[in-house]
Order: sequence, then C-alpha cells, then structure tokens
Amino acid sequence: MKIREILVKSVLSRSKVFDYALNPYVGCQHGCTYCYARFMKRFTGHKEKWGEFVDVKINAPELLKKEIKRKRVGRVWISGVCDPYQPIERRYDLTGRCLKILLENGWPVTIQTKSPLVLRDLEILKKSMEVEVGFTITTADERIRRIFEPGAPPIKERIRALDRLHSEDIKTYAMIAPILPGSEGLVNGLKGVVDYVLIDRMNYHYADWVYRKYKMEWARKDEFFIQKGRELMALFEKKKIHCQLLF
Ligand code: SF4
Repeated sequence: MKIREILVKSVLSRSKVFDYALNPYVGCQHGCTYCYARFMKRFTGHKEKWGEFVDVKINAPELLKKEIKRKRVGRVWISGVCDPYQPIERRYDLTGRCLKILLENGWPVTIQTKSPLVLRDLEILKKSMEVEVGFTITTADERIRRIFEPGAPPIKERIRALDRLHSEDIKTYAMIAPILPGSEGLVNGLKGVVDYVLIDRMNYHYADWVYRKYKMEWARKDEFFIQKGRELMALFEKKKIHCQLLF
C-alpha cells in the first residue's frame, strides 16, 4: 500500500448528488472491484492498482475552516470518491476533524461508508440534527462480499454499526449499490436499523467485465437487476421501510 501525504488547494467541491463533496483521501484501501471511483487514476497519474494507493490530504481541516467562511452553507457528502473511514483514517483522523468543523458550524452532512470506524465519531455525530450516516451494503452473502469488496469490513459489522447509530437517534440509510446476488438477505437485517434504503444497479461497463472475468452470467442481464430491484422494493415495503430505486 503506497501512502503519500499531499497538500491540496481546496477541499469542498461542487457535487451533482449533494451541494458539496468532501474527499479527505485520493484512493481507497477497500479496493472494491466494482468501484466507479477508479476513474480518478486518469487524473492523478497513479500507476498502482486501485486499492493499493492513498494520497492523504493533510491540510484538509485547515482549508475547510477557511472555505466554510466564504462558501454558502449546503449539504456536504463525505465522501463521493473514497471511503472516508477507510483504515488510514484511524491514523490521520482527517474525516473526524473535518466532520467536527462542519457540524460545529451548522453545516448538514451525509456520510457514506462501509466501515464501522465511523463509530469513533459517535459523540460528534450525536450533537447534530443535520447529519445522516449511510452504509453501502451490496449483499448479505459474505462469499460474494469477499469477491467484490475484498478490503472492506464484513457485512455483519456494518449492520451492527447501523444499529448502534440508529439507536442513538442518528438518521441512517443503507445503499444497496450495486445490487449483488444475495442482496435479498439484507431485508431482515436492516429492519429497525435504517430510516430508508436506496437501490442501484451495476454500471454496464463493469457488469460486462464481471461477466468476462468471473463468468457470472447474471451480471450482463438487465433482467437480473430489474427483477432483483423490484423484488427488493417489495420486500422492504412489506417491512414498512421506505425504499427508492435509482434506476
Ligand atoms: S469503499 Fe467505495 S470508494 Fe472505496 S473502493 Fe469501495 S466502492 Fe470505491
């Protein structure tokens, strides 16, 4: 794993999903095989494989303090193209420090992660009414998880973290994206630990790659995603969990 400390010129970028995105790191140690963020390599010049490098934006908190003074308040997505609680965060605490700055200044935040390390910041999170925490969970089947998300924490740990956050009255959601085989097994586990669920398919380019590499027929079948998406919607609705299909 190649870790490099870097200085950046800004940290809050405009986002199509929320008002802003904040990525404390370039690269992600979780190294999910389907990760769309690997396109970043084109712009950063990294030669290493996705999942084997991280650039650490060590001046992010200092910059953020200045940027929030001159920018209009808006919801910040942490993060769009890295996991803000990937293992290196334990050492640098960049996400934790940025989160504190935003919440103490009344900025709304949406966190998206796969890591229970977010619980380290529970006390900061509990103080805000403007924060929500989402976990990406794509399947309930650990064997499938290990193929597609080799460096990310096990599914049970993610659900347990959601449970803890939810029990502290923090708004939580699950992002089932991309839908993988075994995702229907999540319905029971997510009951009572999330406020809502978002569901998305795998992008076409990657689905084709999955088919060629793993000979997984389902990946290149639109019907798989359409059918699974509808099935999941119905199952969540039956449990009275608000659910939205994004495709
Ligand atoms: S955790 Fe998210 S950002 Fe990190 S490799 Fe996986 S999909 Fe990409």
